[in-house]
Amino acid sequence: MDIAITKTQEPKIKPTDESTLGFARTFSDHMFITEYEEGQWQNPRIVPYQKLSLDPASPVFHYAQEIFEGAKAYSLDNGEVGLFRIEDNARRMNRSADRMCMPAIDVDLQVEAIRRLVDLDRDWVPTSEGTSLYLRPTMIADGTSLGAHTASRFIYFVIASPTGSYYQQGSKPIRIRIETRHVRAVKGGVGRAKTGGNYAASFKASSNAKGEGFNEVLWLDGRTQSYVQEVGAMNMMFVVDGRIVTSELGDTILPGITRDSVLTLAREKGIGVEEGKIAVAELYDAYDKGLLTEAFGTGTAAVISPVGELTWNDRTIVLNNNEMGPISEMFYTELVGIQRQRLPDTHGWTSVVPRYRG
Ligand SMILES: *Cc1c(COP(=O)(O)O)cnc(C)c1O
Repeated sequence: MDIAITKTQEPKIKPTDESTLGFARTFSDHMFITEYEEGQWQNPRIVPYQKLSLDPASPVFHYAQEIFEGAKAYSLDNGEVGLFRIEDNARRMNRSADRMCMPAIDVDLQVEAIRRLVDLDRDWVPTSEGTSLYLRPTMIADGTSLGAHTASRFIYFVIASPTGSYYQQGSKPIRIRIETRHVRAVKGGVGRAKTGGNYAASFKASSNAKGEGFNEVLWLDGRTQSYVQEVGAMNMMFVVDGRIVTSELGDTILPGITRDSVLTLAREKGIGVEEGKIAVAELYDAYDKGLLTEAFGTGTAAVISPVGELTWNDRTIVLNNNEMGPISEMFYTELVGIQRQRLPDTHGWTSVVPRYRG
């Protein structure tokens, strides 16, 4: 499928100080967009970054039929730009689409759209340590009727943002509260889909927690509220007795690509991996026995996010003296090294964005 390109006539001013980029606050010059109508994705194109014009009756506004992805383009030392496991993002987009009753979009088209966009806006890829061009593929339901059923028209677009560290505090360990009131996902629900509604439903809890000095909440299972699930936009890993322990995938957990990458690397390094049901009580028990030594979140936005403090009801435990632990650090270094092609990529996870002509 050909992607038409209309270049901007008014390039924006790029941020000059990469140390103050923050997370996805400014966007590059262009965006990719295509519309689904009459059973097909039509007119795929790259245009100057612009506002969308939607009918106020569009289903996305009323019934939250929306899905998204998050990926990053990294500056490589040889001046090229790399992508990390981008086909996996495209495949997950289609799994989310299926759950939310939205149309699939060809994986090759998604990847080509992202490559073309990143190629055109390659000057927007920041180069310093910890920075990248964050990519946000998104699909929304479009239409002109309030009927509560799936839409027949959809829009898929990709926008790009030069990005620094996800948390204002950089890579300093975060404080997490285990959420005991609200739940994020239940069996049979949409926890496994990357859909905006999961986030809308979570803001109350995270905003309450932030008001009390925490960075995030850790969700528990929706039925018994005793098993650990995941954090806002990250999967959670614990280091117990030298092994990596994480919740098993299922209906209620987002299957993170960073999660999968960490588990793959861990297994190769001979570090034990345990995917299962993790009771908070067992974790606290392990802590008391000196076996729980580190915890970290995994996700594209922050890559590896060490947890310094974990609070469950009125008991706070401090992990690794509130510093990034050796295992968290090792995975961070390894993953970023692969992403930036400074370490051997034995899995073929990275690809270089081609320099298209014209
Ligand atoms: C995106 C996301 C993750 C992390 O997935 P990655 O592919 O590693 O970026 C984890 N949990 C939730 C709820 C997410 O939306």
